[in-house]
Amino acid sequence: MTVTEIPGATTPARPAARPPRADRSNGQWKVDGLEPLNANEVWKQEEGGLAVRERIEKTYAKEGFGAIPAQDLTGRFRWWGLYTQRKPGIDGGRTAQLSDDELSDTYFMLRVRTDGQALPPEALRVLGGISVDFARGSADITDRQNIQYHWIAIEDVPEIWRRLESVGLETTTACGDTPRGFLGSPVAGIAADEIIDPTPVILEIKRRWIGNPELANLPRKFKTAITGHPSLDVVHEINDISLVGVVHPELGPGYDLWVGGGLSTSPRLAERLGVFVSEDEAAEVWHGVIQIFRDYGFRRLRNKARLKFLLADWGVEKFRHVLETEYLGHALPDGPAPKPATGPGDHVGVHLQKDGRYYVGAAPVVGRVGGPVLSGLADLIDEVGAGRVRLTAHQKLVILDVPEAGVERLVEGLEGLGLTARPSPFRRTTMACTGIEFCKLAIVETKDTAAAAITELERRLADVVADGSLDEPIQLNVNGCPNSCARIQTADIGLKGQIVTVDGPDGPVQQAGFQVHLGGGLSTVERDEAGLGRTVRGLKVTAAELPDYVERVIRS
Ligand code: SF4
Repeated sequence: MTVTEIPGATTPARPAARPPRADRSNGQWKVDGLEPLNANEVWKQEEGGLAVRERIEKTYAKEGFGAIPAQDLTGRFRWWGLYTQRKPGIDGGRTAQLSDDELSDTYFMLRVRTDGQALPPEALRVLGGISVDFARGSADITDRQNIQYHWIAIEDVPEIWRRLESVGLETTTACGDTPRGFLGSPVAGIAADEIIDPTPVILEIKRRWIGNPELANLPRKFKTAITGHPSLDVVHEINDISLVGVVHPELGPGYDLWVGGGLSTSPRLAERLGVFVSEDEAAEVWHGVIQIFRDYGFRRLRNKARLKFLLADWGVEKFRHVLETEYLGHALPDGPAPKPATGPGDHVGVHLQKDGRYYVGAAPVVGRVGGPVLSGLADLIDEVGAGRVRLTAHQKLVILDVPEAGVERLVEGLEGLGLTARPSPFRRTTMACTGIEFCKLAIVETKDTAAAAITELERRLADVVADGSLDEPIQLNVNGCPNSCARIQTADIGLKGQIVTVDGPDGPVQQAGFQVHLGGGLSTVERDEAGLGRTVRGLKVTAAELPDYVERVIRS
């Protein structure tokens, strides 16, 4: 079987994030007024997404799925982390032909935000219990530090919220045109080499503005990342706003401000505004940037509504000027850029904390954990006297506060749970999005395909790993469609799900496969600067041939 393949025929990534036309109203509230210019803007203005919670609790959970009107189901539910999931058995080749209604099941995906918070054993048990009691055992760690469930029935949602909120967790604005779940450094407050602990800033922003109606009708989603760790562990280049720990030569530790990053089908890396943000002012600066997005973001076309399009239109200088003059009321000092990353930022393995205890990063397979694993992890943490767990931006988790005497038992116990602190390079650096199993936009399967590829690569490339010739890990990101939930453009090998035509014994046949995107990457210890890589025109692989292709790339 041959696959269309034209090696070397590369084409630049598509021009990223071009702003919409300037000669007509683009729905910028402070420029064009508040008149809604598309159906989404109409219903968001009529009644915001936050309001639907009361109806879920009082009506829909009692009367069932059939009582939910379309506008709530496909719109406002997202403000509480709820999307209908894909009906089982619909072929990926039909995704583009069917309506959302035809693709939708009566069950939901539910996203729980952790915002870089540490999860004590009680929280892990609650998360595990919800999975077993209401989600058929499902639970995935996403690359935005969320826990994502599937198979949620509307009748169970109020009880799930009650349990989550009893341990300080929430689904508030986990999806929708809102400030979604934050990425926070998984080693905040414990790493010996930390520049600044971002926890107080994250907590202040959450306390003041998450769930606040003032910020619940944005042009589109708004992603936040905050770290003070020199491994640059929150993929700061691809968030709408990032605060990255730096040391100012006169003012001491604080943050460097980045804005306007985002991937999807028009990728753009975030840019530095060149300002230094003190810890005291960080929450206000976050508030200023998100207000700029709310007030000036483009609202006519949803595919031009992310902050990156406004930055492309304005440029860095104007963005900084508007932030300082209209929103903060004073200038910010110039500040230094972050230094190159000091490590891979996934925190896998055993590391010393500043207090003499240890943190241990562990890898599930492509983020899949499940309820029994979460509950088992809680028991293991109690057994070894560790304290807490954080999720990472790489679909991994980190166990914190492990006493030295408990490290060996913890590492052994993690293996028993299917979470290893010593993953192969392939398991460590492979991520996969939700894919066709549950996602209505998907064209191909992802999680099982990626898991099978990891197993196969571990078998085939054991020699390369053993002799040390794989000196740099190869990041492999598997996406089920042209969207980039698993960050196609930032991987060494990024795979974009699509139907590919291959030669079969009786002529051309269509199969699940991937368009290949090569050479992307975020700042790492090996790479000073992020880059978006390139789509290789004509280079496609079928899902079945994925291990062959990756093996060829690695061996060559
Ligand atoms: Fe769904 Fe596509 Fe995102 Fe994967 S990349 S989760 S298939 S929208």
